[in-house]
Amino acid sequence: MKIPFLSFDVINNQIKIEMQLAYARVFESNWYILGNEVKTFESDYAKFNQTNYCVGVANGLDALHIALKCLDVEPGDEVIVPSNTYIATALAVSFVGAKVVFIEPDIASYNLDPTKIEEKLSSKTKAIMPVHLYGQACKMDEIMKIAHKHNLYVVEDNAQAHGATNKGQLTGSFGDINATSFYPGKNLGALGDAGGITTNNKELYLKACMLRNYGSSKKYYNQTIGFNSRLDELQAAFLSVKLRYIQEWTLQRQNIALMYNHLLQNIGDLVLPYVHPESSHVFHLYTIRTSQRDSLQRHLSANGIGTLIHYPVPPHLQEAYEYLKFKPGDFPIAEEIANTTLSLPLYIGMSESEVNYVCKIITAFFNK
Ligand SMILES: *Cc1c(COP(=O)(O)O)cnc(C)c1O
Repeated sequence: MKIPFLSFDVINNQIKIEMQLAYARVFESNWYILGNEVKTFESDYAKFNQTNYCVGVANGLDALHIALKCLDVEPGDEVIVPSNTYIATALAVSFVGAKVVFIEPDIASYNLDPTKIEEKLSSKTKAIMPVHLYGQACKMDEIMKIAHKHNLYVVEDNAQAHGATNKGQLTGSFGDINATSFYPGKNLGALGDAGGITTNNKELYLKACMLRNYGSSKKYYNQTIGFNSRLDELQAAFLSVKLRYIQEWTLQRQNIALMYNHLLQNIGDLVLPYVHPESSHVFHLYTIRTSQRDSLQRHLSANGIGTLIHYPVPPHLQEAYEYLKFKPGDFPIAEEIANTTLSLPLYIGMSESEVNYVCKIITAFFNK
């Protein structure tokens, strides 16, 4: 049996006709940038995320960058970022010229550990960027309390967690202004690059609209130094189709995760995903950990099973951040996760027999 890490076959087949209609509608409309499709998707996504506003942008990294710009985060400021995040969160901070201050995650949930935030605050700290990694909501109630107490902004990186909740509230609706990605492989994914910003604050919403479109709210009148980071009409039309299915697909992801949890209990030194009782997990990724990660990955690959590592090198050890002069051992939890984590296949349409096969091969590896 061949099982890819990710496949769009089933999902694409399910929505093929609706997607073709969406394409035809945009094609015939004669209007391809910032029109009704983007407006409709923004309004539908804001409703889905239970926020007042959504701003469609070109990708998740731009969404993070523009969110920080909206808050006037600038050189001299410090921003708290989890040490085990995808590089994009840190890059957005670098783009606005602020200093990235890494904080170690909680080893159980892989999310920002709120108890470690206060010791890293300084008079320069301006914002906290929680990342709902792999699809599990951070302890946002505790993070928001710390932010309020110290008068800090919160920018959620919700790229991996569309529809996840903490204490019943949706991720992407806690922070002052939040970013998400609709990269094809994300839980809600376009057929190309796309991203979004969510906020309840009208002023920040208007600023984000301006920044994504050359710093202009009236054509050819530029109020601020802006970007060209607009969500395409075509991608918005595709996303509107997929948004109708996100709840169904999230349940499917959670079911696949439950099957994995059940079949992978008590095997070798495998650590399965821990879900905090007050958070929900939308399983953008199903990640396990083992000290034998590399040989397990090779064994799975030899048996036709695709896996990925999220992520092999934590941001502080990336060549791009060499100038910050971090060294191995500076963030041991992030490094431990990088050295032991493995993401198993999980996609819409993955069958029970495919999950069974992956688990059978993993079990055989530990029994040999
Ligand atoms: C995917 C991702 C991003 C960046 O999104 P792009 O659309 O690829 O720019 C940012 N943060 C996290 C946590 C992500 O997973």
